[in-house]
Amino acid sequence: EETYGIAPYFVEHVRQQMQREFGMATYREGFVVHTTLDSRLQQIAEKHFDTEISKVQKKVDKHLKAVGASQSVRDSALVQAAFVAMDPATGHILAMIGGRDFSHSKFNRATQAKRQPGSAFKPFVYTAAIDNNRFAVDVLDDNAFTLWDHRREQFWDPENYDKKFKGPMTLREGLKQSRNLISIKLADELGPSLIRSYARNMGISTPIQAIPSIGVGTSEVLLLDLVAAYAVFPNKGIYVEPMAISRLERKDGDVFFTQESGRKQEVLRPAVAVIVADMLRSAVDEVGGTGRRIRTVYRFRPQAAGKTGTTNDYTDAWFIGFTPHLVAGVWVGIDDPSLRLWPKQAGSAAALPLWAEFMKEVYESVEPYRSLRNRGFEYPENLVVRRAVCNDTHKIATRFCPDQREEIFIAGEVLPSTCPLHGRSQEQAPRRIQRF
Ligand SMILES: [Zn+2]
Repeated sequence: EETYGIAPYFVEHVRQQMQREFGMATYREGFVVHTTLDSRLQQIAEKHFDTEISKVQKKVDKHLKAVGASQSVRDSALVQAAFVAMDPATGHILAMIGGRDFSHSKFNRATQAKRQPGSAFKPFVYTAAIDNNRFAVDVLDDNAFTLWDHRREQFWDPENYDKKFKGPMTLREGLKQSRNLISIKLADELGPSLIRSYARNMGISTPIQAIPSIGVGTSEVLLLDLVAAYAVFPNKGIYVEPMAISRLERKDGDVFFTQESGRKQEVLRPAVAVIVADMLRSAVDEVGGTGRRIRTVYRFRPQAAGKTGTTNDYTDAWFIGFTPHLVAGVWVGIDDPSLRLWPKQAGSAAALPLWAEFMKEVYESVEPYRSLRNRGFEYPENLVVRRAVCNDTHKIATRFCPDQREEIFIAGEVLPSTCPLHGRSQEQAPRRIQRF
């Protein structure tokens, strides 16, 4: 009987990579393998993983019992989950959990399970929008909208998660509150194939269908891909390929292979990454944000940003988020996608808690994160400018706008127009003196 130590899914991931890249010979010869895993982060992840996923399992069991599900359904409804933490700057995989029990199932749900991301895909839509002359303050209507789906040759009437329509709102609000209609309209405006190209450039390796529902994440993705893609935001536009093996040595100490960071590539304009990161920060920091529980329930203090994801039928729940120094992602679901997880168990309820508990303990007890806990996101002046915006019209504020807030825009580019409601008339009226 085999026993498995810490991080069995990660060890298997490394073994498969060695086999693929260096051949089995290296493995058999007994090379010393140095990996990127941080055992402190791995232990914290494993501890909270077991606690949080057990809680989800209890909810599922209770629900299935309540709806009178058969014993065979109840037996097969094993809640699964996956977790990855990565250093956004180097691509080092710091912690990885591929499922609840490696001895029971070696299938790595962090690197091998293709699942629908739902709303966790929306940041790609908003990234494409901000990169294509949309502003975070632009207003779209969260209302009923019918699309012609060319591929299926039928009309599609998308709904919001809460089945409600909230009316006009800014892109920042739309992403923060995860309004489906705003994302679908943006995807329609920009074109599904453009959205797909952003997702691909940012590291999504699985096939993505360029269809109208791309805005609500209907093509399947891998958790590790999603985590690496979100790392592009705190990384100011640089994609870094995730890596697990940092050094291989022969028994005599001869270094056979060494790699300090994953392959890097600029995939986004730095200013666009800064702005979308800040929009995702709103989802965590502001009232109505889908990640708000990180603050209110879990009391995680360091700056953070992120996005929940839930598929239509509650089969998958996600939370992917980042601080300036660490990116992590959680998927929770059931292996058989035909089994619904449970009703109304959104990403924020099922997946966010593990993310929050992990980050909280890491920033409380692990260096260098503890020392970095007060260091937030950067907003370099050469990349973004801050401007006052009118809260009534969401345009650049005049000094007469009674209610204003600050927004960030790409430095050196065209700004939105000036508020038409509190502008010229008041400014000019008292000064217009007629002379005869
Ligand atoms: Zn105004």
